[in-house]
Amino acid sequence: MGVNTGRDGAAQLAALALQNRACHACDLRPGCTQVVVSDGNPEARLVIVGEGPGGDEDRTGRPFVGRGGQLLDRILGAVQLGRQDVYITNIVKCRPPGNRTPLPLETETCTELWLEPQLALLRPRVILALGNTPTQYLLQTKLGITRLRGVWHHYGQRDQLYSTYLMPMFHPAYLLRNDTRAPGGPKSLTWKDIQEVRAVLDGKMPEGLGGERPDPGQETLF
Ligand code: SF4
Repeated sequence: MGVNTGRDGAAQLAALALQNRACHACDLRPGCTQVVVSDGNPEARLVIVGEGPGGDEDRTGRPFVGRGGQLLDRILGAVQLGRQDVYITNIVKCRPPGNRTPLPLETETCTELWLEPQLALLRPRVILALGNTPTQYLLQTKLGITRLRGVWHHYGQRDQLYSTYLMPMFHPAYLLRNDTRAPGGPKSLTWKDIQEVRAVLDGKMPEGLGGERPDPGQETLF
């Protein structure tokens, strides 16, 4: 369970989701079918943050349901996690046209209105940031995912009332485009990262915050 979610928190999240679905605060809303708020368990200790909905997500109203979502399910399944064990959302809740990267103003508007309040209610033990966009926003950095993945970081909200551990990981869409299973390749690195996330969810203290890469051991395939 999230540190403070509980039944009240889940009700507040549901109320927030209702407001979120009616949002028209930025220019993304007119070009999409619907607002895609979240999926999974509001009491989860792991919150996964992606970039934004794609075509399948825009159509179904659920995040990570396309090929990338199916790969994410396999990655989570490799460490015995299912959708019922995680809460999944995105930096922007409306599909950017042509699946382009969200613009800074869109990211700023959407995260202030929706993601930051979501995280404040969820208070997970771990945030898993998928790819450049969520990682760079949540860590307020311009460094790329290749530099940042595999290393634990602190995530703290602006009011400093809440902080937690954040692990950047490659986005599943990137893994689909770079399908090599060679040692040291994106999939093998992702296997290490998700094992490390699992260990910290199970109570291990994150090592080398912002520094050394952890090495949780043997490689396998998704
Ligand atoms: S992307 Fe976010 S801020 Fe923009 S309209 Fe959708 S929900 Fe509102």
